Amino acid sequence: MTELKWSTPEALRTLLCEVVSWKSMTLSDGEREFPFKVQAKLQDIPYFQDHYKNIELSEADLGRKFLTALYKHPEAKETIVLISHFDTVNTEEYGDLEALAFEPEMLTKALHDVKEELPEDARLDLESGNYLFGRGTMDMKMGLVLHMSLIEKACHEQWPVNLLLLTVPDEEVNSSGMRAAVSKLIEYREQHDLTYKLFLNSEPVFAQQPGDDKYYLYSGSIGKIMPSALFYGMETHVGEPLSGITANYIASFLTQRMEYNPIFQETVLGEKTPLPVTIQQKDLKMEYSAQTPYRAKALYNVFLMKRNAAEIMSIFEGVANEAAYECNASYQAICTREDVAPVGEIRVLKYEELMNHAVSKFGYDYVELVKTTVRDHQELDDREKSFRIVDTLMIQCQELAPAIVLLFAPPYYPAVNTSDDPLVEECMEFIKELGKSEFNLAIEQIHYFNGISDLSYVNYEDTNGGWQVFEANTPVWGDTYSIPFNEMRNLKAPVLNVGPFGKDAHKRTERLHIQSAFVELPQLLENLVKKVLLEKIEA
Ligand SMILES: [Zn+2]
Repeated sequence: MTELKWSTPEALRTLLCEVVSWKSMTLSDGEREFPFKVQAKLQDIPYFQDHYKNIELSEADLGRKFLTALYKHPEAKETIVLISHFDTVNTEEYGDLEALAFEPEMLTKALHDVKEELPEDARLDLESGNYLFGRGTMDMKMGLVLHMSLIEKACHEQWPVNLLLLTVPDEEVNSSGMRAAVSKLIEYREQHDLTYKLFLNSEPVFAQQPGDDKYYLYSGSIGKIMPSALFYGMETHVGEPLSGITANYIASFLTQRMEYNPIFQETVLGEKTPLPVTIQQKDLKMEYSAQTPYRAKALYNVFLMKRNAAEIMSIFEGVANEAAYECNASYQAICTREDVAPVGEIRVLKYEELMNHAVSKFGYDYVELVKTTVRDHQELDDREKSFRIVDTLMIQCQELAPAIVLLFAPPYYPAVNTSDDPLVEECMEFIKELGKSEFNLAIEQIHYFNGISDLSYVNYEDTNGGWQVFEANTPVWGDTYSIPFNEMRNLKAPVLNVGPFGKDAHKRTERLHIQSAFVELPQLLENLVKKVLLEKIEA
């Protein structure tokens, strides 16, 4: 009789279903309660009864906490950090079945009754019996469950290595959990005299294109940033349209040039970033009226591999200058045709230039007051706050209008990649071979995890001050949003993502591959730690 509670496929499946049933959608009460439940579970492990202080809950933001659990071998310094997030996206898309979204066994059964409504690949997977459906099964509560079972085993068998389990909230929105955890990781390293050898995340495998069902390992994580713009035109009555200029007219020129623009696409190690798209574009008119909309905003999503924020801003500025040039020319032609005088020339300026202008006009204290007033609006998220700040400053600085103000809206996930790290190379080789021999799996390596992950906040590298440009052009920087770049630079260790196979994250057909999750991954991860990391460390 084994004393381990989470070591068989059945036990793992039961634990997963329990953990999934603890609803934890980002920004919900469930997300706040979740880490306490994990804490209670981990406290059942005898090691943590003797070392109860090794499990800690620390503050992220908005009353949310992240959990750390350290298994420390008395003689070991070498430490593997096991990273997961416990928040999930919402569940409206489940419709009538929403009540079962967090009950994988029941949901999987219930889906059989409506299987004709499912997309064909999901229906076939359902009929195969190989998948467990449910919100968070794949993304990524199974990853957390695998880490819990790994630490349980390490404690029980007294592996001569340290494991630090870290599970965080808010990955799906702003990653406030992971950004807060960075300083905790540094504090822990000093306090317990640890050496971080590897940051191991277990996000699930994401398809590279629709229909792709290969199993991947990841030695990095793609970056994501949101260059954004506030368009400030000039108001007028619809009856006299050319007495002003609408923000939507100006915006259309930039959006046309941003969407799918290959200048933002990077190709690194044979992998390409997805093209940029608009995430949101709207004018800032609150209600219908006969006044023309003279302020608008647009947020663009850009993926990164090698580039940093400074490089993106410089490309963005170039594109915006072209857009303004075209817009001015087109507007001039209209004014000539209609025989009216233009209201002005559209200029492009960065948020930091607007700031400097406002500071010299009104003084530093006034600008700070604008920011703190906006910050106190609890109902606004970081993106809305960013635009509110820029908008308020522009209203006070209309001598700059018409204008396109360029800024960054949170969140920013820097790209990370450690494909050429010798330890990562060894891990890759080992898992590929073991997967092949044990499970006949053809495993492939991907250099940048394409699902966006918290690995972005460790092992930060920046050679040319890219982050100062981010700080200077992010209106909410230092108030409600910040990234601990300096500390992230200080967390130098390779990154790896090894997680279970699943499909359709963030869709109502989210599902986890049963054999991969409960049979293959537990063995792959355990052997990875024991055979590669332990041997390497002991050698
Ligand atoms: Zn995830």
